[in-house]
Amino acid sequence: RYFSRYSTAAVIEEPIIPNVDIKHTQLLINGKFVDSASGKKFPTYDPRTGDVIAHVAEGDAEDINRAVAAARKAFDEGPWPKMTAYERVRIILKFADLVEKHSEELAALETWDNGKPFQQAFKSELPLFVRLFRYYAGWADKIHGLTVPADGPYHVQTLHEPIGVAGQIIPWNFPLIMFAWKVGPALACGNTIVLKTAEQTPLTALLVGKLFHEAGLPPGVLNIVSGFGPTAGAALASHMDIAFTGSTETGQTVLELAAKSNLKPATLELGGKSPFIVCGDADVDKAVELAHFALFFNQGQCCCAGSRTYVHESVYDEFVEKATQRAKRRSVGDPFKSGIEQGPQIDTEQFEKVMRYIKSGTESSAKLECGGERFGSKGFFVQPTVFSNVQEDMLIAQDEIFGPVQSILKFRDLDDVIRRANTTRYGLAAGVFTQNLDTANKLSRALKTGTVWVNCFDVFDAAIPFGGYKMSGMGREKSVYSLNNYLQVKAVVTALKDPAWL
Ligand code: NAD
Repeated sequence: RYFSRYSTAAVIEEPIIPNVDIKHTQLLINGKFVDSASGKKFPTYDPRTGDVIAHVAEGDAEDINRAVAAARKAFDEGPWPKMTAYERVRIILKFADLVEKHSEELAALETWDNGKPFQQAFKSELPLFVRLFRYYAGWADKIHGLTVPADGPYHVQTLHEPIGVAGQIIPWNFPLIMFAWKVGPALACGNTIVLKTAEQTPLTALLVGKLFHEAGLPPGVLNIVSGFGPTAGAALASHMDIAFTGSTETGQTVLELAAKSNLKPATLELGGKSPFIVCGDADVDKAVELAHFALFFNQGQCCCAGSRTYVHESVYDEFVEKATQRAKRRSVGDPFKSGIEQGPQIDTEQFEKVMRYIKSGTESSAKLECGGERFGSKGFFVQPTVFSNVQEDMLIAQDEIFGPVQSILKFRDLDDVIRRANTTRYGLAAGVFTQNLDTANKLSRALKTGTVWVNCFDVFDAAIPFGGYKMSGMGREKSVYSLNNYLQVKAVVTALKDPAWL
């Protein structure tokens, strides 16, 4: 089933060139692809080799201003918020159909720009992207206010109105999925958008932006600006309502900028250090496989990665032995090659950050069970790495590593693991693996996280809310809850004259 241990590096030395044309590298403003005002471009790299894939227009404050003006005009004067909800539904559904038709091309472009396994992009992320837009199309004509009672002769209704122009900033780890989480609800509620993609992965958003216009989206409704955080991102954060996904540190900056400019509402989806708890009654083989998936999926570059594997002392030794064997069997290589489970990290910065954390682990009293080195000689590949005997005060147990590094900690009883699992500034997600219903109930209520997955992990259906407690963020994405991020509630109170009844 798996490729041989650390299968040959040759596939990385001669990367498979995907059969995709890169058609769009300009900014998408007011329905047109345009150069940046400065004329500047920046390279986007193939993480398998570090080679340049394409040069992309580099948006800056001036381009953000242009995009905001287009979005403002499309909201105030354009057809989008004035269309019937059913017309918006039809455009979003048509867009989902077009993406489905182009999903192989989009998955290849996503893998090329990001390094994630092509099969993962094609078989799970593209279908989820399509599903998310169909889900939000389903909401677009079901958003309405309420009639509410009053203590007097008044007719009171609430109107759920779009907020106007939404500013959205997304990260590089799931470029398309993050696009869908943000753009889907904002459009369903009738807003217009300026979206800034991550500088590491600008390509797929531009292609889906083009498809949205093919589906009938009016110009100015969705503007996409490629560019860097401190320039384009900061300009956008100071401009309007913000929905941001990224690191906690950048989230704090974004919130500060948002507060200083006009007290705009902000939704933040930030980092995590999620516990995955394996109880003493667990089937160890299954627990090993799920804990492995929870951490190593997407090269460990998941905000909710199960990056603290807590294992009950009664099964700890067996678990460590089997988790190590599983990590050694993980197939690493060219993500375009079928059967490859793990591609490269996104870029040299992330690669070096992961290697620094591995070094801090090896210098601590944690035990390096396997991995710990660069994989191959090119690109940003890291060997699947497992540390056992990890303690809470170690950096590898506290910080978000965002790489294929599993940290295994031993626990004694449920109260012990609840206390330790909650001892972190993060609160994004948690995994619980047990056959005991009472244990599952106790843990899922005691853990201070926005999601608890019981006997599963990374289940991301459109209708399931996602977001963080504590410093993992504010607000929820996906699901009915996400609509609140993009709606204003207006109370309309009308005096009644001689009403027949109150
Ligand atoms: P990052 O914070 O460095 O960048 C994220 C985005 O913010 C990028 O588009 C970047 O250009 C922009 N940005 C950077 N500095 C900015 C500034 N000063 N003003 C405005 N925008 C700025 O994060 P990253 O390293 O690209 O992404 C990884 C992080 O994202 C991890 O911490 C991960 O946990 C988090 N994440 C969270 C979720 C979630 O739903 N909670 C989902 C995916 C990723």
